[in-house]
Amino acid sequence: MDVNKYYRSIPKVDSIMENEEIKELLDITSRELVLECVREATEDLRIFINNNPSNENKINEEIKNIVNKITSEVHKITSYNMKRVINGTGTILHTNLGRAVISEQAAERVKNIVTGYSNLEFDLEQGERGSRYSHFEKIICRITGAEAAIAVNNNAAAVLLILSSMAKDKEVIVSRGELVEIGGSFRVPDVMMQSGSKLVEVGTTNKTHLYDYESKITSETKALLKIHTSNYKIVGFTESVSIEELSALGKKYDIPVIEDIGSGVLVDLKNYGLTYEPTVQNSIKAGADIVCFSGDKLLGGPQAGIIVGKKQYIDKIKKHPLNRALRIDKFTAAVLESVFHEYIDEERAINNVPVLNMINKNAGDIRIGAERLSNKLKEFSDFFEIDTAECLSQIGGGALPLERIKSYAVSIKPKTMSCASFERKLRDSEIPVIGRVVNDTYYIDLRTVLDNEDQIIYDEIKNIFK
Ligand SMILES: *Cc1c(COP(=O)(O)O)cnc(C)c1O
Repeated sequence: MDVNKYYRSIPKVDSIMENEEIKELLDITSRELVLECVREATEDLRIFINNNPSNENKINEEIKNIVNKITSEVHKITSYNMKRVINGTGTILHTNLGRAVISEQAAERVKNIVTGYSNLEFDLEQGERGSRYSHFEKIICRITGAEAAIAVNNNAAAVLLILSSMAKDKEVIVSRGELVEIGGSFRVPDVMMQSGSKLVEVGTTNKTHLYDYESKITSETKALLKIHTSNYKIVGFTESVSIEELSALGKKYDIPVIEDIGSGVLVDLKNYGLTYEPTVQNSIKAGADIVCFSGDKLLGGPQAGIIVGKKQYIDKIKKHPLNRALRIDKFTAAVLESVFHEYIDEERAINNVPVLNMINKNAGDIRIGAERLSNKLKEFSDFFEIDTAECLSQIGGGALPLERIKSYAVSIKPKTMSCASFERKLRDSEIPVIGRVVNDTYYIDLRTVLDNEDQIIYDEIKNIFK
């Protein structure tokens, strides 16, 4: 077999560079990058020939395909990878899809702030250095009833920082029923270890009493820690100590009580058809000294860990060296301020914070939206069976794990391809659509589909079958 014959048939780099399609690439990127991709492609071809010297058909095919390969490689390198997607899963806080959606108004404010200079750490009244926390501290305190507040990178960081600053080398008492693992490797015992505090476990998995805590208090005890078991529920023969009782115990022994409440709920979710989830206000009122929670769970804001509570502890936390490593940037500070602003008026928050708005969407209205979309898609009923179906949305993000909210979906059963390949095509589209496949049927839950996205879904499905 004359391998050299094939080597000779590999187009020369210079001549590939003269190809019209390749020349067009110079409009979108540099000559260096195109050249690099051309060299790589010819080198790959050489290796292919070397490894498959007797596969003449395949070699010819590869040679014919070389321009396509180069253009697609250049496009791959020069196009953005992170994109907006449409969430048709019905999971409102989908961690893989970016958790909480931010409102247009909040995003506009951030855009305005970050495309110029800002008063991030500049006190405009005094004309001197200010604090990045000042923009939202007062408003958080107003809403939660706390004395002081600060925010860090996420809630995991908040727990780490709180324990490092309040209980390093000392003992922290935690119920065995609350030693949780939250998705993405947040484990309470591990975080405690990283903070240098010593975990003192009390009670059992299903039952912990107040006297369990009390009996383990020593001169080494620097905090009582309560953790919300956000993502699981123990039911049956169970008992745990409320934040009220624990706070009273802390007071009796002059030991601070810390609560990791998980999701930053600021409204009574019972009013919106869900199970009551402990609110930040309630923990503060109950007497907790420090409460921390996520910014991008039920609060509906940016990724952040918000710490609220007594000023003496927050001041110490602010000055801790770890805080510098965990601090939020101006994007987060700006969005946090926007989101908390909405909560000044609960009705505004329900309307303007997308997460709350999605929770509060009426099933009847969702049904109308699902019927509208499915009627439009009937145009393509040669290719699939289409219908609307009742379904159940969930909160997600490790919050309210048992909660399901009645909703409506468009259901699509492809006739000309498998459901798996339909799912893949929608995922591959210009604006990817992420739905759910159950029993060979594709579902798009309209609860998590935002205004105007139904038109995009229609267009992307049309693209698949046109
Ligand atoms: C979600 C959660 C965390 C982690 O919060 P992140 O903001 O994702 O870091 C910690 N503790 C509890 C109880 C949680 O629910």
